[in-house]
Amino acid sequence: MGVTLRLDVNRWREHLRVVADATPGLVPVIKGNGYGYGHRRLARESERLGTDTVAVGLPSEVALVREDFLGSIVVLQAWRPGDPIADDLLADDRVITTISRIADLKTLAATGKSPRVLLEVLTSMKRHGMSPTELAAAVGELDGLRFEGWTIHLPMGDDSRYAEAVRLARSALDARPGTLWLSHLPTEDAIGLSRQLGGSDSPVPIRLRIGTRLWLGDEGSRKTVATVLDVHPVRRGERIGYRQRPAPIDGWIVVMSGGTSHGIGMEAPTAATSLRQRAISMAAGSLEAAGLALSPYTIGGRKRWFCEPPHMQASMVFLPRSQRPPEVGEEMPVELRLTTALVDAVDEV
Ligand SMILES: *Cc1c(COP(=O)(O)O)cnc(C)c1O
Repeated sequence: MGVTLRLDVNRWREHLRVVADATPGLVPVIKGNGYGYGHRRLARESERLGTDTVAVGLPSEVALVREDFLGSIVVLQAWRPGDPIADDLLADDRVITTISRIADLKTLAATGKSPRVLLEVLTSMKRHGMSPTELAAAVGELDGLRFEGWTIHLPMGDDSRYAEAVRLARSALDARPGTLWLSHLPTEDAIGLSRQLGGSDSPVPIRLRIGTRLWLGDEGSRKTVATVLDVHPVRRGERIGYRQRPAPIDGWIVVMSGGTSHGIGMEAPTAATSLRQRAISMAAGSLEAAGLALSPYTIGGRKRWFCEPPHMQASMVFLPRSQRPPEVGEEMPVELRLTTALVDAVDEV
């Protein structure tokens, strides 16, 4: 018994289709924990959407998508010398390697493998990339490599993003014309950029890399649930849990499936402030004052407090005496941040 993601597949696919139709040059991003769904499912859905390219985070993730998705695969993490998995992919025609330093371009050219490459432009994120003054020199090192375009990864939610995108894209296109692979630029801005730089008759080709908004954008298409594993009555002051702390209230200890191995932490993952405030006013007995943390489990229509930090595969939460205790085997909602959570099963409904 663990944590299950219940997915309304038809509704989810409708959402994926809406995003895909509204996004020119969509490149679905499949990485990390597979956004809660797993790499293979997202690879299959990308194939179904008809996109010709997806992106993964790491070289090792290429193997997780390549059998279910048949097109090209961009590796987002910039290539560095000394990674044998990345080096094996250089000769693979389906893989596009991201390069963020001139030194790496020289090293790659010397391998004689002629990989498909994207050149990364340094943005105000200051993560990876070459600055505008280096781009012409970078283009000079492309001999023997297959240039697929420029990659620009912008910071999120900043008003100056568009101006920065224009400035960096212009520098890049001056150094060499090519497709712009953009991340975290709103679609309308990306289309505007493409027209502004290329003219409306010959807009610059763009590819938009999207993960969270595509896979997790429709919250109503899914819910995450955990199972009641045990229920024990408890009296105030009785010692409980690994830490043998005294129970702060009369009531029940409800043992729920799910724990640290699923990415369940000490606090509710979202809206912590308002939940906290609500909880403070609600909990007249003030479990928070007793040093407890709000759990992501909902029982009887309300988030409940952890008795102690979650265990590996189970969590203990309090239910006050005034509540009807749940039955063993009942399912309860658990709020998970799906970019960090690991579910045991995805059930299609
Ligand atoms: C992870 C990543 C994305 C996708 O990010 P989301 O916020 O999940 O859409 C896009 N571009 C790059 C370069 C990334 O590393």
